[in-house]
Amino acid sequence: MNTVRGIYILIIKIDKTLRLKIGALDTITFSAGMYAYVGSAQNSIESRIKRHLRKEKHLFWHIDYLLANASVEIIQVYYLTGDKTRECHTAQIITKHNKPIPNFGCSDCNCNSHLFHLDDFTFLNNQQLLTLPTM
Ligand SMILES: [Zn+2]
Repeated sequence: MNTVRGIYILIIKIDKTLRLKIGALDTITFSAGMYAYVGSAQNSIESRIKRHLRKEKHLFWHIDYLLANASVEIIQVYYLTGDKTRECHTAQIITKHNKPIPNFGCSDCNCNSHLFHLDDFTFLNNQQLLTLPTM
């Protein structure tokens, strides 16, 4: 497990409307609900997920600023093996179904976003994703 490289999708629940300053981005309003974040870990997915699940950490990625909030919780983690190209491909699949948060998590690629407000995530069932325990 420690050596699994690939991409992951965090399913995130936000309990109440939040206005957060996200790194170098402007303040973003997140309405309460479910979100999906797509990332890649080319060293170890497991250690990356552990980092995402920790509240106390140095805030580095956009997603860190969101996950550090007490009203934000990761409720499911999906992953699959693959390189960074697959990460952006997955982001583009999700964007067809759901509402992107512009410029979030995509400073180093050409996507519109890697974070999506989910209306419906049943389509993920068709993507042959594996799940990781969140505890
Ligand atoms: Zn991308």
